[in-house]
Amino acid sequence: MPLEPCTTSANSALEKPLGQSPDQSVSQPPTATPKTGADLPVLKERGQREVFCGLTGIVWLHRKMQDAFFLVVGSRTCAHLVQSAAGVMIFAEPRFGTAVLGERDLAGLADANEELERVVEELLMRRPDINTLFLVGSCPSEVIKLDLAKAAEKLNHRYFPETRVLNYSGSGIETTFTQGEDTCLASMVPVMPAKETETAELLVVGSLADVVEDQFQRLFSQIGIGPVAFFPPRRAAQLPQVGKGTKLLVAQPFLSETVRLLINRGAELLPSPYPFGVEGTTAWLRTAAKAWRIDEETFEAAIAPAVTRANMGLDRYRELLSGRKAFLFPDSQLEIPLARFLSRECGMDLIEVGTPYIDRMLMDEEIALLPEGTALSEGQDVEKQLDRCREARPDITVCGLGLANPLEAEGLSTKWSIELVFSPLHGYDQAGDLAELFVRSGERRRRLTV
Ligand code: SF4
Repeated sequence: MPLEPCTTSANSALEKPLGQSPDQSVSQPPTATPKTGADLPVLKERGQREVFCGLTGIVWLHRKMQDAFFLVVGSRTCAHLVQSAAGVMIFAEPRFGTAVLGERDLAGLADANEELERVVEELLMRRPDINTLFLVGSCPSEVIKLDLAKAAEKLNHRYFPETRVLNYSGSGIETTFTQGEDTCLASMVPVMPAKETETAELLVVGSLADVVEDQFQRLFSQIGIGPVAFFPPRRAAQLPQVGKGTKLLVAQPFLSETVRLLINRGAELLPSPYPFGVEGTTAWLRTAAKAWRIDEETFEAAIAPAVTRANMGLDRYRELLSGRKAFLFPDSQLEIPLARFLSRECGMDLIEVGTPYIDRMLMDEEIALLPEGTALSEGQDVEKQLDRCREARPDITVCGLGLANPLEAEGLSTKWSIELVFSPLHGYDQAGDLAELFVRSGERRRRLTV
């Protein structure tokens, strides 16, 4: 089991389309559920899907928590995915690597646990600065039933407190794209310190670019909300406290397990739309302001300069997007908030809004804002969905990398959903950038076809 910090080669018997598990290849007829809270029927599809697996989350998480290391226990395919998705990281000291399961491990000829311990020992000898080591499960480690929870427990006995070892799954059998962040954060919740008092504290949940976090921190203090902590923190060693009095304001809509675990530890969820666009950001901040009993006048005055700036940034793109048709394939789990932004703030027509799964607890506030009659779908039967997309000929299609190239070749303008997760797009100051991303893909196609 060699450690591969950076590799681009892929050659494994376990190679398979990313994020596609065996049971998902069985196509079943779609079924429509009864009316939702927002009166929108949901088309539920459980066929073959084309989405990334949860390993992808390492790409932004390793940038966020700079004292952590992500050790994927997987095949060369997994190493290749993380490496190629992370791209530029080969120029920096990597904070991720892959313990590659070789043929002997997979055939059960080698003791994979011993091999893993040896890889960890080598890694920590070389990198004693690693404060938190995540063992990240993959399809291959799952297939050979490698118990990473047990491995983490054993390694903790040996290396704690210098290094804490946690484990979570990024396997394509269990997770889609952004669910990797959810399983990662969920693995940290049990080791978060308990809150000592019951006074109100705001906990912003979901990985945000540092620059966005700083903007929100400034807005919270101008409004009069505090104290505020962010989870995940910039240093994994400095986990925020949780307990009675913790109020959760969720920044990313894909953190179902994490939020439930935080609630189990005594925190209270503040349900809200997500901070995408001017409307979403205002609603998100207002949710916290209400919990802190800030009067409306004070709130409006505190956000006014940022709202004016954001509207100016958005204005020049509204005209270019208004009346255009958007089709969103399920991938990142950001589709519903993005669709709300595209429709309500940019005037786009929504042909279909697909999302990998709908967690009512985290999504009802957003669904309620979608225009009446929006075609909402959950899960995927990719061929059928592609047919619907081709028939509608949208102006912009938001989808994963695997679908983008074929659709571009058919003359459709696409936007990679992965880019929408990597780029700092939350908050007022990024509202214009968010709209511009959609304008840019339409513009690129227009230039290509002129
Ligand atoms: S975890 Fe599974 S889906 Fe993801 S890269 Fe590895 S083999 Fe592929």
